[in-house]
Amino acid sequence: MRTEHIHIDGGMGEGGGQVLRSALALSAGLGKPFSIVGIRRSRRKPGLRKQHLCAVNAVAALCRAKCSGVRIDSDCLSFEPGPVQPGEYLFDIRGAGSCTLVLQAVLPPLLVASGPSRVTVRGATHTANAPTYEFFAETLLPILARLGPRLKVRLDRHGFGAGGGSMTVEILPAPEPQRLEWEIDHPATSVPWRFRILAANLPDGLAEYEAERIVASLWGGFFPGDTEGLRQHAREYLHGGWPRIEHVADADGPGNVIVWHGVQATGTRVLSAHGGTSRTSARKAAEEICARLAYYREYWGNADRYLADQLIVPLSLARGGFFFCQTPTLHTRTCCAVTRLFTGKSVGAEQLHDMPHWKIEVPGAA
Ligand code: ATP
Repeated sequence: MRTEHIHIDGGMGEGGGQVLRSALALSAGLGKPFSIVGIRRSRRKPGLRKQHLCAVNAVAALCRAKCSGVRIDSDCLSFEPGPVQPGEYLFDIRGAGSCTLVLQAVLPPLLVASGPSRVTVRGATHTANAPTYEFFAETLLPILARLGPRLKVRLDRHGFGAGGGSMTVEILPAPEPQRLEWEIDHPATSVPWRFRILAANLPDGLAEYEAERIVASLWGGFFPGDTEGLRQHAREYLHGGWPRIEHVADADGPGNVIVWHGVQATGTRVLSAHGGTSRTSARKAAEEICARLAYYREYWGNADRYLADQLIVPLSLARGGFFFCQTPTLHTRTCCAVTRLFTGKSVGAEQLHDMPHWKIEVPGAA
């Protein structure tokens, strides 16, 4: 019997790397070949960058795929997967591309593979516009574990804008994948939360300044016109280890990432913001994370805007299920559209009456 070949326009939906990563994962997981033209067509520099090239080579290695067009800058490729071979893998982005984004393509087929795997990815573990290591470890993996597999992850070395990081994931698939039934979290009355600042090779005093700006953004309203009072308040907090500044000694180049962890009944939520080496960038990062936190506290749903798009493909390769999220982003809608091309089944997205929640219902393949 001839297997159906799927044709993808890389400019569909959000038109970036995620179209490709979703296609790779679905192709390997379902054993369906595909070709794609116009890879990352909507981006300023279209075509395969290092992170995307690594993802293609990585998924190709998992399923011994036959491919063409796999080189840097390529804007089209074809991919014919064989059966997924679980095992030990090491993938090196050879630059500062995001390890967690490579894992976005690699992990879903391994969650439903016939045996255990251990995968190490080298590159950046903390980069802007991608899940941080903490988001991956504390938010995404515990939800994926509800599909049945046993999952462990380890940060081997931090990697920021200069790369040089590494993380390792261990995957033991379940004999029978489970359906995800993730009901809306009840609004938490009290959520233990903490801020950390990961500081690598930063100018003296910058992380402390950033910490002060976080306190100022959160509590500035209590000190109208009293700058010194606010600074004193911030110093007391900082002295008590809040936010906690973690000096990262072994990273290549500078790194400045604020990570917020909030523990809810159904898992930890992680938010992040990336600063640079200047006071202006530190202040902006502090304001950005506080603004995101304010928005998030209004909502307290289950999947945030990022987690939602990252669940569609793994669920569709397992037994499907449902979860609730904020208004689906273009990334989420794009994942739904790519999934439909491979499975022929539509992902449901419906807003709950009078509520800011959307129910996303993903049909499963297993
Ligand atoms: P391109 O360079 O083509 O934009 P990309 O491969 O770098 O592509 P996207 O296709 O935009 O990246 O996909 C970004 C992915 O990272 C999405 O899955 C999104 O949910 C996730 N992401 C972005 N920011 C965060 C964040 N702060 N926390 C968690 N996940 C994030």
